[in-house]
Amino acid sequence: MASLTLGNFELTIFSDGIYRLDGGAFFGVVPKVMWSRKIEADEKNYIPSGLNSLLIRTGKQTVLVETGMGNKLPERMVKFYGQPAELLKNLAAAQIAPGDIDIVINSHLHFDHCGWNTIRDKSGKIVPTFPRAKYFAPEGEWQYARHPSERDAISYIPDNFDPLVASGQMTLLKGGEEIVPGISVKTFPGHTASMMAIIVNGCHSEAAGNSGRHSEEANSACHPEAARISPPKDLGESPRGIAERDHNQARDEHPLTDEHPPIACYISDLIPTTAHIDLAWGMGFDLYPLQTIESKKEYYARSIPEKWLTVFTHDPKTPWAYIEKDETGKMVAQKV
Ligand SMILES: [Zn+2]
Repeated sequence: MASLTLGNFELTIFSDGIYRLDGGAFFGVVPKVMWSRKIEADEKNYIPSGLNSLLIRTGKQTVLVETGMGNKLPERMVKFYGQPAELLKNLAAAQIAPGDIDIVINSHLHFDHCGWNTIRDKSGKIVPTFPRAKYFAPEGEWQYARHPSERDAISYIPDNFDPLVASGQMTLLKGGEEIVPGISVKTFPGHTASMMAIIVNGCHSEAAGNSGRHSEEANSACHPEAARISPPKDLGESPRGIAERDHNQARDEHPLTDEHPPIACYISDLIPTTAHIDLAWGMGFDLYPLQTIESKKEYYARSIPEKWLTVFTHDPKTPWAYIEKDETGKMVAQKV
């Protein structure tokens, strides 16, 4: 389980497990001789795909970005994809109960991104998995999911979202909203028309603690010279302890020269794995592949100069990395 400190926030990756996808569909028009150098396919041409959710502890709220594949897939889909259903178990191993989650955000409503939004109770009724949480998802996705095309109707399972919309527990977003201080969404069309990335600014001014002394400490952790992002941590430690220690360490070892705040972005299926960072390497699932390219350009125009940490939904090995341009102009993933 990967974890790091981003300014005042603590970020942790929780996986719902690994499922299998057809390698050709995963890499669209890219020839197998090229993609097979990056990911090995099995005898049926399946490749392993991760299901990475991002947990953000802001100090005030516990926010879960994406809820994996869940445990409600129909049998005909389990045959193709499997159904690892590991998210709740992995959260529990870190002492996080469903009732601890304050906010759930879905980048879009494909079944492998919002599966644990809901579960069936003993009587078979669909109920929210995270009973106290406010859920958020793109309105355009929900509208589309009501009348999907023949091409991607299988990707939408209404039980994952319709009961939440009907009860008012899910808020539908236009794109561009700030959900809590420091956590906002931005639409990047391409994979679908309304898919959103989740942008996390660990040094948002209101993210500081609420008492005077704590505010000072929290703000100092976000001084431009302070640690931007610190490496994986033992989860037993409190977020504040981690932030303080890393602040001191980083000042000694890596004085920061630029003034960008530490930002992480859950980029979802715009760049599903580190193997997809090249502009032309899109998934066959993308409904609007030319828009995927334009959205990637738009993303890189900010994320590269501002050194954003990119979070990859479907990378089974590298859940997050910095995307940079090397001397030859080629995009590369720089490990955290
Ligand atoms: Zn996906």
